[in-house]
Formats: sequence, structure tokens, C-alpha cells
Amino acid sequence: MSDCTHDCSTCGSNCGSRDKKSFIKPLHKKARVKKVIAVASGKGGVGKSLVTSLLAVRALARGYRVAVLDADITGPSIPKMFGVHERARGEEGTIYPVCSKGGVQTMSMNALLEHEEDPVVWRGSLIAGAAVQFWTDVLWQDVDIMFIDMPPGTGDVPLSVYQSIPLSGIVIVTTPQDLVEMIVKKAVKMAEMMHIPVLGLAENMSYFACPDCGKKHEIFGASKAEELGKKYAFLATARIPIDPAVARLADEGRIEEADTDALAEIFAQIEGAREIKN
Ligand code: ADP
Repeated sequence: MSDCTHDCSTCGSNCGSRDKKSFIKPLHKKARVKKVIAVASGKGGVGKSLVTSLLAVRALARGYRVAVLDADITGPSIPKMFGVHERARGEEGTIYPVCSKGGVQTMSMNALLEHEEDPVVWRGSLIAGAAVQFWTDVLWQDVDIMFIDMPPGTGDVPLSVYQSIPLSGIVIVTTPQDLVEMIVKKAVKMAEMMHIPVLGLAENMSYFACPDCGKKHEIFGASKAEELGKKYAFLATARIPIDPAVARLADEGRIEEADTDALAEIFAQIEGAREIKN
């Protein structure tokens, strides 16, 4: 291995000088991934998977080779949004990612289940293990930017994913009515503990733009994006509107056709984020 930075938190290599306290797991030995961005939220249902998908779509449109690792094992929604329904192929120690129409490499629990509708009723340690296996056992091919749809919350499962996968940065997703400040504080603390930069805060369902009068209605309460962005010195913030059209595209597996302009600022931070070592 060349150019050791002695920072095991950004390195997936399993070399002899690895910090023995580091829990980072090595990537599949033939896989290559330059940047890894975790998309996290305090709870489920706030649009974390949608934001993950939109960021991936934006990266794809800009010519990057993109992957999405769906670490939300019990609520996997990435395959549906990308219209991917095949099961993953695998052989001894290797699982092949499933590609979307536009070429996004994906891996999700759904791709391994006999029936997509089967629930996953495992204990936390197994769930975390499966998410980490998507990192260690999948042959990700020359990926410029991988997005990880994190398990919601700040409990044991997301923690072990944070500890096991080297990250370039985190994007936090909230909604205005979420207990935003507490969740943001927790996520920021967790990121600090792991020495991972928070690249941006995406406030989803921030407002609804009336198609008739153009007025922005803050359906779920006043936006806190700007205030929190300043308070925690986030590099970028985004306000994503409630948009029935995007919900339809997500439902129909056509998210690659969605408009991603609301995430421009956050994506610019991702483009500037550090690369990890393989
Ligand atoms: P999470 O990953 O946080 O559980 P999802 O991304 O799966 O949440 O979103 C939950 C549901 O809400 C999905 O059906 C999604 O299409 C819809 N949704 C999320 N954000 C928006 C939005 N801004 N406008 C319209 N529908 C949205």
C-alpha cells in the first residue's frame, strides 16, 4: 500500500499498520470505491432514501460512476426507486451489484430475498452484519461516489455501520416537524466522534409550492434549515419541497428522471469531499 496517511478512519485497506482499535472493514479485494457518502436521519420516513437517490441521480448526470449501498436493511427502498427488481448474482465470497437502467450499481437486502415483500425480522447484530457485508463482499466496480442509505436513528445498527465503513462525509436528512435540533445534535456528535465531516443538511418536505399561485406553504412548520446550518456551521443546506411528481417517480421506479437542483449546494460539497483509500 502506498501513501499511508495513518488515518484508518478513511482507509478500507487491511494493511499491517492498521490501528488495532479501528473497526473499519476492508472492501472486497477487487472492488474500487473513491468516495463514500453516508445519508443519515434521526428516524425513518423523513425521505432519507429519496435524498440518497436524488444525490445519486445528480452524480450520474454529472458523469460520475455511482453506487448506492442500501444499509437500511429492514426498510429497503432503493431498488424500488431505481426500478431494480432482479436478484443479485453471487459466487463464493462475491456478490455482484445490480445495475439500474441508468447504470447506478445498487445492493440492497431486497436483492437477496426470495420475495421482495418478505420482512427482515433479524436482531440488530445480524442487521448491522448484513449492511457491512454489502461493503466487504460486493464487487463494486470502479465507483467514483458511493452513497449509503443508512439505517435510521443513532442506535447500535447505524453506529456499527459508521465504525465499519470508511466515510468521506455525511449528509443529514430531516423534516421541519422532526425533533430537528436534538437529532441534528446527535448526528453531529456521532460524526465528530468518528472524525467524519458533515457535508450538509437536507431539510426534506420543507415546503409545498402551490402550482396555482406559486406561493410556498410551510406545511410541516417553519423551516429550520438556515438557522441550524448557521448554528452548526454546516458546509451546505438544502430545502427540498413536497412534490407529488417526485413521489410518483420514486413509486414507479423512475427516480433517474427526477429534478435534483435543490441538492446542488450539497452535491458541490460532495464533489470536494476527501477520497478514501482502498
Ligand atoms: P426514509 O428513507 O427516510 O424512510 P423515504 O425516502 O422512503 O423515507 O420516503 C418516504 C416516502 O415519502 C416515500 O414514498 C417517498 O417517495 C415520499 N417522499 C419523501 N420525500 C418526499 C418529497 N419531498 N415529496 C414527496 N414525497 C416524498
